[in-house]
Amino acid sequence: MCAKRIAILTSGGDAPGMNAAIRAIVRIALNRGIEVYAIYEGYQGLIDGGDRFRKLTWDSVGGILHRGGTVIGTARCDEFRTREGRRKAAHNLVERGVDNLVVIGGDGSLTGANVLRQEWQSLLTELAEMNQITPEIAEQYAHLFIVGLVGSIDNDMHGTDMTIGADTALHRITEAIDAISSTAASHQRTFVVEVMGRNCGYLALMGCLATGADWVLIPENPPEVDNWEKKMCDDLRAGRQAGRRDSIVIIAEGARDRNGKPITSAHVMEVLKKEFDEEVRVTVLGHVQRGGTPSAFDRNLGTLMGAAAVDAVMSGSPNDEPQLISLRGNRIVREPLMKCVEQSKAVGQAIADKNYERALELRGNSFRETLRTLKTLLRSLPHEPIAGQKRLRLAVLNSGAPAPGMNAAIRAAIRIGLDKGHIMLGVNNGFQGLIDGEIEPMDWMSVNGWASVGGSELGANREVPSESTFYPVARTLERHEIEGLLVIGGWTAYQGAYRLYKQRENFSAFNIPIICLPASINNNLPGSELSIGADTALNNIMWAVDRVKQSAIAQRRCFVVEVMGRYCGYLALMSGLATGAERVYLHEEGITLRDLQNDLDHLMTGFELGKRLGLMIRNEKANPIYTADFMAALFEEEGGALFDVRQTILGHVQQGGDPSPFDRIQATRLAARCVDFLIENANSATPAGAFIGLESGGIRIHNIEEMPQLMDETYQRPKKQWWLDLLPISRMLAQPAPESEMTSV
Ligand code: ADP
Repeated sequence: MCAKRIAILTSGGDAPGMNAAIRAIVRIALNRGIEVYAIYEGYQGLIDGGDRFRKLTWDSVGGILHRGGTVIGTARCDEFRTREGRRKAAHNLVERGVDNLVVIGGDGSLTGANVLRQEWQSLLTELAEMNQITPEIAEQYAHLFIVGLVGSIDNDMHGTDMTIGADTALHRITEAIDAISSTAASHQRTFVVEVMGRNCGYLALMGCLATGADWVLIPENPPEVDNWEKKMCDDLRAGRQAGRRDSIVIIAEGARDRNGKPITSAHVMEVLKKEFDEEVRVTVLGHVQRGGTPSAFDRNLGTLMGAAAVDAVMSGSPNDEPQLISLRGNRIVREPLMKCVEQSKAVGQAIADKNYERALELRGNSFRETLRTLKTLLRSLPHEPIAGQKRLRLAVLNSGAPAPGMNAAIRAAIRIGLDKGHIMLGVNNGFQGLIDGEIEPMDWMSVNGWASVGGSELGANREVPSESTFYPVARTLERHEIEGLLVIGGWTAYQGAYRLYKQRENFSAFNIPIICLPASINNNLPGSELSIGADTALNNIMWAVDRVKQSAIAQRRCFVVEVMGRYCGYLALMSGLATGAERVYLHEEGITLRDLQNDLDHLMTGFELGKRLGLMIRNEKANPIYTADFMAALFEEEGGALFDVRQTILGHVQQGGDPSPFDRIQATRLAARCVDFLIENANSATPAGAFIGLESGGIRIHNIEEMPQLMDETYQRPKKQWWLDLLPISRMLAQPAPESEMTSV
């Protein structure tokens, strides 16, 4: 039996992150001795054959990570819908000895791949009967192994938490709506923004949650009343009366009313124009949403899914059903492809049947929960408290370094608390504010527009309550009759909350429910696989490194880039994956002199063979002696005339800027759950302490007593760091091309 060969194609609509998948498939396959063919222009290329099939080398997929779209082209192809077309496709594959096909596309493309597999043996029999292939060849390639990756900006595939491209599309949408918001607010204007999604409201829903737009129309959840136009106008008017300066309605292209009649952006505009007698502008975002450089998440998702596709081919056996590579939590897993495709199509069918309950059910828990939270946040004013209800006094504070997304969390907590009839208090300046009594009541409009703002509007610092300050903290809590505390921030937030909890016997004011929400760009907190702010920081680093790389195009140069993260290498590793760094240095692994010698040898060999750019990313605490300065000087000296070296310490740029959509959305989801927790626990005689987090794709609340056990002995990072499992992939992609490849370049 000859060695395995893989062919890859991208089909249907292009999606940012497809190139990362192609790069990973090629490099990991070559590394394992598997040849890879790219089929240019999707199924059309598969049918055309000839030079549409091209063998890919290690270098041919260099420099494509940051590019949007797909470098191997995509197309829609009606001929592939015919048996004759698929017979030609089969012929082209066996002619080149390929019986593993990786298809990156939407549900249409994956259905096409499944049809090809179902017919495969009969197609080969036909080809043999027509004397186009020998019976031996038909026998040898009797099984076609299919692996599917979902490239779709709509995030419309069942069985995977995210599809390749959806996060980038959300970036484009939030950037656009943030920009529209500022002009709309200046002129007190109304805007209607149309986003993609024929059967899937994901982009519209999340775009609305991330930006603080005022009304949203999605296919799965049409307005509940027939005269929705009136409801929309009433809501927007109430929002203006409450003090909002702009009104933004987001509409998914597949929006409809509850009778199934499509709702167009033009119709929404006409309704608003007539009602408010003012100018209303429509912005159809269209293909802008597909375009531009992929986000860090999509680059890494493409890379990890690509790696998993090669694993699936390696371990697959001839009779295996087609597999879909999917994301569950932070894990890449395999699912039966056709089951996922069928379930995805079922949502479209449920919408067509006007069975909206079923459509929402099929979308899953997280979608439904987000929709519920959004409906609260969108209100122009909170519900009035119920007569006789107990109105709790709940306080929120930020602690530690500002992390992008903190404001989104505060906004959600304040609004959800108010809507449930409680009194919400903001603590300025972190725990110091609790010591100094800097507390103020927050109303609905006090957090208007906070979702998109970076930093911390409440103010935060690194103060942690201690022996000498417990008393003033207790006095403040008593004076303001605080009955629950939400602490949002990094390790100082966690430490502070833990200390207050532990002092409950000495200070009865601390005997209230306390919950911590992870917000730190370092991603070094217990009980959460991701903390708020880390995704924004990762995108900031990627943005900067992309530019640094570009600046070096004319020279032979190596960059040593230092990133934040303190004692946690998350930012270094993930930014290394997203930018194609050849080496990442983490605190978890340290740096030895031998490492540096090896890395230098690799650099020298690479530059001697014609490479033009080297990129090393270093976590700020990777090693206290071998600093960025030291490394740059060492490489510069030893590199001699072969290459020069520059170091870049990115610093606080990483902490700043507008929060990414992911950070805004997760901050909102987590804060909503924290407020529920405080309310549920307020009446208990021994109220619980807790910390919340994202684990295995869901939200989990831990007892605060578990906090020390989950941290390592240095208390600088959690014991379990899931992302360390990605080190082997990062190394494999970064190492020099295999020997065989080097000579062929
Ligand atoms: P997407 O993959 O983005 O959903 P399409 O639905 O347009 O995009 O499908 C892309 C291509 O996949 C089509 O042009 C066609 O070549 C192929 N395809 C889609 N559905 C089928 C099918 N049922 N049988 C065979 N080929 C199909």
